[in-house]
Amino acid sequence: MPMALAGPLLFRIGYNLYAHTRLGYLFYKRQVKKARERYPHGHSLPQPVVFSGVKILPIPVLSNNYSYLVIDTGSNCAVAVDPSDPLAVQSVIEEEKVTLEAILCTHKHWDHSGGNAALRRRHSSCRVYGSSYDDIPELTDPLSDKETITIGRLNFKALFTPGHTVGHMVYVLDGKPFESPASLFSGDLLFLSGCGRIFEGTPETMLASLDTAADLAEDTLLWPGHEYALECLMFANLLELENPFLVQKLQWCPSTIGEEKQYNPFLRTHCQAVQDAMGLQRQGDEDWDIFRARVLKEVRLRKDVYKANQ
Ligand SMILES: [Zn+2]
Repeated sequence: MPMALAGPLLFRIGYNLYAHTRLGYLFYKRQVKKARERYPHGHSLPQPVVFSGVKILPIPVLSNNYSYLVIDTGSNCAVAVDPSDPLAVQSVIEEEKVTLEAILCTHKHWDHSGGNAALRRRHSSCRVYGSSYDDIPELTDPLSDKETITIGRLNFKALFTPGHTVGHMVYVLDGKPFESPASLFSGDLLFLSGCGRIFEGTPETMLASLDTAADLAEDTLLWPGHEYALECLMFANLLELENPFLVQKLQWCPSTIGEEKQYNPFLRTHCQAVQDAMGLQRQGDEDWDIFRARVLKEVRLRKDVYKANQ
């Protein structure tokens, strides 16, 4: 077999084992155990954000994942987003003395859905929301694009954003009842200055999903599924050394959609600077989105290589 094919083929086999079999689950369980030993208090110390009537608590789990607990402070109803380590999420539920009403799952990968079963066992009335295209454990309420989920005063809109997986969804919490900006729980679609890998889709699919995120209000707060901020910003900085927003952002968190559009190369495929950095030019009458998908593919590829060389 030619070497050029062996690498991707091995990767596909490994990916399918992880995403679709019990071996993947066992691997995930080992990762949880290792992370609990290595980071007994979590991999980072994120600050909760509190608006009048709602509290958003990032919970650092595994080695770089975030689960979130979103609390309606009026009724003490809580929603968990991507609960990967059930113990970590449960201890925050107990500390906050809230009732877990729902789990919103962005996609099937274990590091986003691995806690569903254990939390459902403890909280039997808790619903599990997500796309039926992904094999999400314990799914009770399959969602379609733009469907709304209401828990107490919390209103989430589910947006179908495939590319990382076939059924990836993101959730937008309406800020209006709390006089706050909206919040995007972006799973593995969008990270601070980065995006998820395109495991089950084409660059065109991923581009359309990223455009969905970019179309949200500029002040929308970004709550990503992973803490890759430093690595992603360093990579973005390699492409655009002079970008002043990048230099500024290296110094503080969290971020908004408006900010991401200023420096996240995956949301900047329309920018000449990023196209030039990739050495790509639009062919005569090439469709604009097809061209942007080519740019996205190249940025994604370089990011993968960048990570591999770290
Ligand atoms: Zn994933």
